[in-house]
Amino acid sequence: MNIDKLSDLPGSLPLFYKQVLNSWMQCGGCHSEHPRIFSEVRTQFIWGNRFICFRGKPLFYKHWMKKGILYINDLLNDANCISADFVYQKLHDKTNWLAEFYTLVHSIPKEWKMLLQTRESRLSKVKCRFVLRRYDQRRKGFVQDKCTSRLLYDYLVSKKYTKSYMETTWSRKFNCNYSGCEWKCIWNLSTNIQERKLAMLHFKMMHNILPCKLLLHRWRLADNPLCNVCNTTEDYEHLFVQCKQVQDAWKFLCSALAQIGIENIYPCLKFLVTGYKITQPAYTELNEILIIFTFGIFKSYCMSNNWSTPISVKTIVKRELCFRNEYYKTERRRLYLLKKVCDTI
Ligand SMILES: [Zn+2]
Repeated sequence: MNIDKLSDLPGSLPLFYKQVLNSWMQCGGCHSEHPRIFSEVRTQFIWGNRFICFRGKPLFYKHWMKKGILYINDLLNDANCISADFVYQKLHDKTNWLAEFYTLVHSIPKEWKMLLQTRESRLSKVKCRFVLRRYDQRRKGFVQDKCTSRLLYDYLVSKKYTKSYMETTWSRKFNCNYSGCEWKCIWNLSTNIQERKLAMLHFKMMHNILPCKLLLHRWRLADNPLCNVCNTTEDYEHLFVQCKQVQDAWKFLCSALAQIGIENIYPCLKFLVTGYKITQPAYTELNEILIIFTFGIFKSYCMSNNWSTPISVKTIVKRELCFRNEYYKTERRRLYLLKKVCDTI
């Protein structure tokens, strides 16, 4: 079926089928070109085909479909010619078959019929299979796939994208108008990190479900939303940037980065949540270091039971960075920037 609007179909359809067909069209099911060789003609799906129209509308004979007449190939007899007798034998409901048959034959484009009459076509066997012609973003062109439920499912899921309300929240908070491409890279931060712990931390932070006192209080798990050290509301901004506890850690990170030539990093929540120059691959390593840094702060926060017991955040952060530096060496995955940062310690 390659129609591009539902009104091309005869009769009214239940809502469910309308939605299915709409999805089909969005998937690229309506994209097709005029066949140029006989085998392409023979594999054309007859029903709902925009090239096989009677009085401007594609045809749709339900009882023909039920009897397995789906492709042009199904109209051909053993000698590979369109045959009324052959079709007659296949049909169960023969009430109006002759009129239907001639309407169909009349609707098939002349060029196609000429291709079917060629010697090559008459001497060849053609196998029909259900294919989906869709636009492939990566290959930048149309591709044909064997149409399976799995393919359709994956395709529909990849098409379904609901903008997270967190995008609006973070954009407003940081007063930044991130583009769709930037958001894609920001969300990919969580998925591209190999280590699950780090990925989960960033994912939870992005979705505002990483527990801080403000959230714990909102969830009725804490008596108040205040930082145990500074006695001010403990949101992410406070916990990761403003709190007295994390100042030394920030000083260490900024000076370590400055020593290796990166001077634009300063204490700021934005860098931890949405990364630094997120669309540029050159900063991928830096963004990973920022996430390890966030992890170090949060680990210290949990270890000290929300800062109730003394702890050196700087030491924990250093340990986390060095641990990963060693770990990646054994994994044969080198982060050169991380090595440089660790060399400054
Ligand atoms: Zn504090």
